[in-house]
Amino acid sequence: MAYNLPATRLLMNRLRQMMAEDGETRSRLDSVVQLIASTMVADVCSIYLRHRGGTLILLATEGLKPEAVGNTRLSANEGLVGLVARRAEPMAIQDAPRHPAFSYRPETGEDPFHAFLGVPVLRGGRVIGVLTVQNRTERLYGDEEIDTLQTIAMVLAEIVDRIDPEHLGSGDVQRRARNLATLKGRVFCEGLGYGRAVLYDPVVPAAKFFAGDQEIEARRLTQALVGLRASIDRMMAIDGAALGEDPRDVMETYRLLAHDPSWAEKLQEGVRSGLSAEASVDRARREHRARLQSARDPYLRERLHDLEDLDNRLLRILGGDEGKPQISEERSVLVARRLGPAELLEYANAGLRGILMEEAAASSHAAIVARALGIPTLGGIEGLTTRIDQGDWLIVDAEEGVLHVRPDDSLYDAYKARVALRSERQAAYAALRDLPAKTKDGHTVRLMLNAGLDLDLDMLAPAGADGVGLFRTEFQFLVSETLPSMEDQITLYRRVLDKAAGKPVIFRTLDLGGDKVLPALNLQREENPALGWRSIRFALDHKGLFRRQLRALVRAAGNNPLTVMFPMVTVPEEFFEARDLLLKEVEWTAERTGKRPSKLEIGVMLETPALAYSLKELAGAAEFLSVGTNDLMQFFYAADRMTPHVSDRYDLVFPSALRFLKDVAEDCARYGIRLSACGEATGSALSALCFVALGFTNLSMSAGSIGPVKRMIRSLDMSAFQADFLAALDAPNGSFRNQLLGLAAQHAVELPEG
Ligand code: PEP
Ligand code: MG
Repeated sequence: MAYNLPATRLLMNRLRQMMAEDGETRSRLDSVVQLIASTMVADVCSIYLRHRGGTLILLATEGLKPEAVGNTRLSANEGLVGLVARRAEPMAIQDAPRHPAFSYRPETGEDPFHAFLGVPVLRGGRVIGVLTVQNRTERLYGDEEIDTLQTIAMVLAEIVDRIDPEHLGSGDVQRRARNLATLKGRVFCEGLGYGRAVLYDPVVPAAKFFAGDQEIEARRLTQALVGLRASIDRMMAIDGAALGEDPRDVMETYRLLAHDPSWAEKLQEGVRSGLSAEASVDRARREHRARLQSARDPYLRERLHDLEDLDNRLLRILGGDEGKPQISEERSVLVARRLGPAELLEYANAGLRGILMEEAAASSHAAIVARALGIPTLGGIEGLTTRIDQGDWLIVDAEEGVLHVRPDDSLYDAYKARVALRSERQAAYAALRDLPAKTKDGHTVRLMLNAGLDLDLDMLAPAGADGVGLFRTEFQFLVSETLPSMEDQITLYRRVLDKAAGKPVIFRTLDLGGDKVLPALNLQREENPALGWRSIRFALDHKGLFRRQLRALVRAAGNNPLTVMFPMVTVPEEFFEARDLLLKEVEWTAERTGKRPSKLEIGVMLETPALAYSLKELAGAAEFLSVGTNDLMQFFYAADRMTPHVSDRYDLVFPSALRFLKDVAEDCARYGIRLSACGEATGSALSALCFVALGFTNLSMSAGSIGPVKRMIRSLDMSAFQADFLAALDAPNGSFRNQLLGLAAQHAVELPEG
């Protein structure tokens, strides 16, 4: 096969012309395969389209029998083409018929062909087809040929993705109607929203794929790379000094990747082959994403994430601005693969109607920000960014966890009706705002707010909360690129206390690690981060950092009351060590400033089952205990809270978990430890009903949950319900959740529908 760069450029030029020409899709695809075959001196060139369940359908061919088009269908695991699709990477094989995965299809007449090269056709990290070339002779295709075919596959992706595999009969292939699609996601912030899609990741439109003037493109690319490297070097210079060894290593790796000559060379090569600078970076990004989809090794995944990040940064620089999409549409929904909390905060005042994220795991910080902003948000939506085009209309149903893409009129009408209903409900909750959360028979429950940003505090009064039951201090660390100084911390804590205006605030000390990964303080890679070096374990091993925070808390309180609790305590010694540090900081501050908190309360979070059996030792030292159901339940049920397939599998409303909590409540009463709960479960009215029935008198939740939980409590006749509840817990009958719903109905407890 004669192959060289000018030939590739020629091919790109011809492809560019073909793309610009009008014409039927079928004849365009036929021309494309002919062109590739002749330029690459291949005997065969074929395009396969991936259909539902992974079936691969022959879409166009030069060299195989024309009758096979539309008829040859390979199952997901069949043949070399299937293997390319599965691996999402190119495969060059010298003698295809001898390969164990080879599948013989007589209708294609392919027996005389030996050499095989297949590359995936990728869109948004998803394999949507396979492009192949074959030759009669036995030979191995070289790297440059593989690169060329990959580049062509990228150009073809835009056409192939729009073809409807259901209509591959004779005549022109049909373009897939861009009609309604419904996708499922996880609710990160409840609500309903309607608006046009604004894609967060830079998009390279097909029209911009080809270089106008190759020299100009090469120069643009070089300049962009210089700009990118300089910005990362600057970042290192500012942050590097403040960092410990591990984070510096991580940042250094990132910097090295940005300076990697082979990455730059690969990008330049794309330009030399006729691509625009943007398209060349986009090609690299597709490869990184595709590899990310299949990579299991956490280290490799991190590097691929870094590379994708660099690709995106470079595209933004090439785009001439910081590349953040501007929200100019009145109704916009932000659509992103991944979104960091800081990135999301930049949209705080943009009037977004919804936020959609493809990834579930990395998004939990962003989810907390989304909740603080009160924007309906769904996460963990597979294939999100490949199914939505810029400007598509979307209905974000963050009540049911469903996204409607390009909704029809009937869906839109149903949505409007739901919005009206929701406003009625919200108005009813607002009317309860100044009323106490008191049961019919006089038991009062304190409903507190979970917060992590001072923005959250703005919700204190409108939600009718009694105070802040959980202030996640690590959030300040997560949203900033550099480590917050002690002054920064004091400023935030003071602002929080000011905004709380005398209502109690429980500051939870730094809870980093697990899913809360700090870019500036990257923890070591771990097999099981949730079980790893995190939270109080990490804090106690980084005393400088921890003491600075404790000092900031004491300083912020001045002569006012201060309440602090420690997360993820597993054994009493951890609590005592942390408590001693806090007490020392109180003395230290008192000596120097003459100020000490008028009242100091120190509590502990119950997040590991082990601690439940150490409450006796905590008596007299821990004033209160707050059950962190998010972590506690993941350890109790051995189900990772960040893994979508298991995170919702087990229910707190289940006898084993509730009996455990009942024992904890009894022990707290026995040892004089005040009991409360925070974590997501408190925000569900049904779970809150269980907590109240178990004797919890203090629940902390996100702002949106306070209304429904208060309504539930105000409808409850506690003593009558409690007796039936405890009897059912003792002797459950069938699904406990259903039994509980039956009991609630019987006692006329008001729960939100659904
Ligand atoms: C919890 O684990 O329940 C909790 C409140 O802490 P976080 O969600 O911040 O881990
Ligand atoms: Mg926790």
